[in-house]
Amino acid sequence: MLQQMTPAAIAVLGSCNMDVVAFADRAPTLGETVAGRRFATIPGGKGANQAIAAARAGGAVRMIGAVGDDDFGRALRTVLGEAQVDAGAVRASAEPTGIAHIVVDARGGNSIVVIPGANGTVTSLTAADEAIVANSAVLLLQLELPMEAAIAGAAVARRAGTRVILTPAPVQDLPPELLANVDLLAPNEHEIAQITGIDEPREALRAMLEQVPEVVVTLGAEGCVYGARTQGGTLHVPAPKVEAVDTTAAGDTFVGVLAVALAEGRNMQEALRWASAAAALSVQRAGASTSMPKREAIDAFAALHVAPG
Ligand code: AMP
Repeated sequence: MLQQMTPAAIAVLGSCNMDVVAFADRAPTLGETVAGRRFATIPGGKGANQAIAAARAGGAVRMIGAVGDDDFGRALRTVLGEAQVDAGAVRASAEPTGIAHIVVDARGGNSIVVIPGANGTVTSLTAADEAIVANSAVLLLQLELPMEAAIAGAAVARRAGTRVILTPAPVQDLPPELLANVDLLAPNEHEIAQITGIDEPREALRAMLEQVPEVVVTLGAEGCVYGARTQGGTLHVPAPKVEAVDTTAAGDTFVGVLAVALAEGRNMQEALRWASAAAALSVQRAGASTSMPKREAIDAFAALHVAPG
């Protein structure tokens, strides 16, 4: 169990999106109109999701990004504020708030059009952004902002001794100047297979260690596997057995909570167990940010379900 202490400082440089979701029996084909069953607007974006997960787990989280001067942008600021994420460095852009336009079919499959909008305007860091990164224990990066921003953020973090965790999603080419400043890469099994061209997660992980010092691959209900360049072998942390209702943002919950544990100085095994407990709690509830557990709930669940080391 983690003790309450001075909140760990986490910086998140990432996306804020509004997910605009139509639930229908099936997605329409080109030129077709289908009747839908339900509609929802769900605050998301991998950056905002990781920020909210970390804040709920007890981190002192500052988010760097951008939203538009529109209703979706205001709604996202409200959701971040309610989760105690400091959104002072989320810029007000002349571009509209980023949108993920999603059709979910009867089997839970989805098709998505992402319009980056304001996210696309974050191409560099201001002096204030750099100070946030430098004064944090951990910087969380994903790839929903322009690549230049991630490269700049990771470089600032490296100079300041801030630990960088990168979620390489959506998958794209990872420039060497980014990877050079990443401490921990956190893909899921599909992402690491795409990045390395190797299907077996442990084998892919070992190949990735040639480029970054530490890698954790999430394996859905199978948990996660971790490896470090300085250690032989890999560590498998199984996921607690739960009834999954909605795995949206399980990976973002995992990474956000992992960042808090590492920023608090926990060892990797303990941090992975705590993150696994949080992610297992999140999959038992519908929604993204709304499904992310608070610190007390993670502690209680971890004590019950995760075997001590
Ligand atoms: P994924 O992005 O699907 O690999 O999931 C990220 C993390 O969420 C996993 O490493 C698990 O800790 C957790 N998770 C996902 N699906 C489940 C599940 N069905 N049961 C328990 N934990 C899960």
